[in-house]
Amino acid sequence: MKNRVYVKDLKDNVGKEVIIAGWVNIRRDQGKMVFFDMRDMTGLVQCVSLPNHAEATEKAKEIRSEWVLKLTGLVNKRPDKNIKTDVLNGELELEVTNIEVLNKAEITPFQINENSIGVNEDLRMKYKYLDLRTERMQKNIRNRHKVVKFIRDYLDKENFTEIETPILSKSTAEGARDFIVPSRLDKGKFYALPQAPQQYKQLLMAAGMEKYFQMAKCMRDEDLRCDRQPEFTQLDMEMSFVDREDVMNLNESLLIEIVQKLYPEKEIQEIPFPRITYKDAMEKYGNDRPDLRKDKNNKNLLAFCWVIDFPFFEKANNDNNPQAEGEWTFTHNPFSAAQPQFHEDLLNKRNIPNILTNQYDIVLNGFEIGGGSIRNHEPEALLAVYDIMGVKKEEVEKTLFYMLDAFRSGTPPHGGIAWGFDRLMMLLENEPNIREVMVFPKNGEGKDLMMNSPSLVSEKQLKELGIKIGK
Ligand code: ASP
Repeated sequence: MKNRVYVKDLKDNVGKEVIIAGWVNIRRDQGKMVFFDMRDMTGLVQCVSLPNHAEATEKAKEIRSEWVLKLTGLVNKRPDKNIKTDVLNGELELEVTNIEVLNKAEITPFQINENSIGVNEDLRMKYKYLDLRTERMQKNIRNRHKVVKFIRDYLDKENFTEIETPILSKSTAEGARDFIVPSRLDKGKFYALPQAPQQYKQLLMAAGMEKYFQMAKCMRDEDLRCDRQPEFTQLDMEMSFVDREDVMNLNESLLIEIVQKLYPEKEIQEIPFPRITYKDAMEKYGNDRPDLRKDKNNKNLLAFCWVIDFPFFEKANNDNNPQAEGEWTFTHNPFSAAQPQFHEDLLNKRNIPNILTNQYDIVLNGFEIGGGSIRNHEPEALLAVYDIMGVKKEEVEKTLFYMLDAFRSGTPPHGGIAWGFDRLMMLLENEPNIREVMVFPKNGEGKDLMMNSPSLVSEKQLKELGIKIGK
């Protein structure tokens, strides 16, 4: 729009006639005069329509909340007694000279000019594009962008390359249940949506990229909880020629900088972040993501800690598929390496319950916000991990041939980490769940209430895919 001025810049235009565009936030009809607040992505300004601009005032009487207007007006200083010092444009007022209605709006199902946290969440989800107009949601989504941008700039300076990995991937038993996508060209076969770019990022190390990162979408078909969604975002990274300290130090510095630069009102309880062994955490706190905050009422206190020295294997139970109950399964990641002093034990498959992995988890205020490890980059070690889990060499050679081939073709030692980015944002924004920092989340049953998805597809689509739905 030609000559449009953002609401935040009105203060630089006092005494001038300007054009603004945005939404009617609230309207107060006072007989001959109409007051209303206009909102754009940069903030609010109070507008007043006076009888001397008769045509504009007639229009101003018609307008309603959430109508979209192009508005011309004079930027005036408010009379002293009406000045508000604590809000944007509190000293200004726009005297309306012309109104052009760009779009009308029906009465919204909830108030846009109020915090929507108390509104029925199904309703918020159905009208997510309205919910996202509210001040709090705008703040959360824009701050999310700021953190992502900060991460990108930081890692770029550290010589990382941001690389996108495929979404149409392959089903591999990795811990959670896969979302699968039927292939039309190869009927009866399926892609899987990635649970994480774990294998791709390791293959990028084989590919000589050395330092990779990605804001990666991950999909897991799990039951939902307050800090889980079927699709979520990871800051995923992997580095070659590193040890555990390198990965932990880089991530710790990045987290500290994010907080200090973007959330200066927050206080990090302890720097360097304390490190707790899995054993101590379980003994002292009864879980492996302890909330170390000294004052849980202080909403600006951030207690980070690292949890290390996890056992590599545990006996499988009902909910940690894919291993059968009672068999050994990995606690975190089958691609992790054992700690150096247990490397021989791993290769010889002895002392299994005591083998410690190189896994490190990063915990914030009782939430696991990330985890990673130094990986096995030798085929024998990866085969030994699967052997301990009861998966024979031939089977692994068949399913993970590309990983083994890569490990036989000059793959450097490497390791990495992934952050649960939504969880981090939830905590930085003091929100009770990750849906508050996402644009179009699913409900507790995994449904998108706005688009009404998942949904049926046509007979034709099913036929093309060779799929019959069982009754
Ligand atoms: N891919 C792992 C995960 O999603 C993280 C990692 O080890 O880098 O949990």
